[in-house]
Amino acid sequence: MTTLMAVYDADSCAGQCDAECYDATKPGCGCICAGRNHGAGKKRAVRNTRKYADQWLDRAIEANSSILAASIMPDAQALARMEGTEAEL
Ligand SMILES: [Zn+2]
Repeated sequence: MTTLMAVYDADSCAGQCDAECYDATKPGCGCICAGRNHGAGKKRAVRNTRKYADQWLDRAIEANSSILAASIMPDAQALARMEGTEAEL
């Protein structure tokens, strides 16, 4: 399963967006993308993650002040580059 983005507190992963979200077929999203990637499919979700990661991180930190780190999967960045979406940023 590809995790597109995750945030961490001192002990563990505090939230993430992964295939469970972007491949979802049922409504209801509680993950850090706040529904933006929900059911969007991997391609679009990768693009969204690249574009909105900063916003999602800001929001995650607002909601949970113990968040210390975040990660965006390298393959999300590589895929976005391959698709030439960097020019749109
Ligand atoms: Zn998500």
